[in-house]
Amino acid sequence: MPHRPYIVGNWKMNGTRAMLPEARAIDRAAGRYPAVQVALAPPFTLIQAMAGEAQAIGIGGQDCHVALKGAHTGDISPAMLDDSGASFAILGHSERRADHGETSELVKAKAEAALGCGLGVIVCVGETLAQRDAGEAEAVVKAQVRASMPAAELAGEIAPGRISVAYEPVWAIGTGRVAAVADVVAMHRAIRATLTELYGEVGRGVRILYGGSVNADNARDLLAAEGVGGALVGGASLTAESFLAIVSAA
Ligand code: PGA
Repeated sequence: MPHRPYIVGNWKMNGTRAMLPEARAIDRAAGRYPAVQVALAPPFTLIQAMAGEAQAIGIGGQDCHVALKGAHTGDISPAMLDDSGASFAILGHSERRADHGETSELVKAKAEAALGCGLGVIVCVGETLAQRDAGEAEAVVKAQVRASMPAAELAGEIAPGRISVAYEPVWAIGTGRVAAVADVVAMHRAIRATLTELYGEVGRGVRILYGGSVNADNARDLLAAEGVGGALVGGASLTAESFLAIVSAA
């Protein structure tokens, strides 16, 4: 792997200020694992507080708009994320694709806008259960990668580790049903091939994370699998205890 394993907690729409002590505990403990890159993506409302205190972990957003400012009620721009202390954005999560109708083309535009503001990006892709059952998983994910990733002119952002892909099978998210390691390895290989198609050799420097029901029990096997550069963790990132068990497994 060209980079340290990257373990990112996605708090989704969970967390009020009452959860700041969990973030503090994660940050303090993460300092003891310098070989692992640790980050949390809390709701927008907690970014400033968490980023102001964090010493060892990165703090990011879970989405951003394509525009830097303007008449978009309720949206947050990548410039605002940057201003609030965030260092990256998760983009194109399947919940945003499903709940907000986000297309891969929109995700690509968001990724380019975020990179333009100096943020790192984690672009999420993944097939539904129906697509996997129909034998279409690889084709679907490859098409998502091709259409969602920033343009090749931005390949220069890859080397410093600012661009990651998260492979998150939709049926594995929040279900307790984790993908088989062999399937994860096969899909990460397919994604890597697509990234080198898009970016040439530098595409090898994009980290590919796995996400979907990662927990303390399955993290070791998933993170040891060929081509897996880290994990995007939802439910198990909400307490310091369960998240740090994954960090220590990395
Ligand atoms: P989960 O969520 O770990 O709760 O399955 C992962 C994600 O959606 O990023």
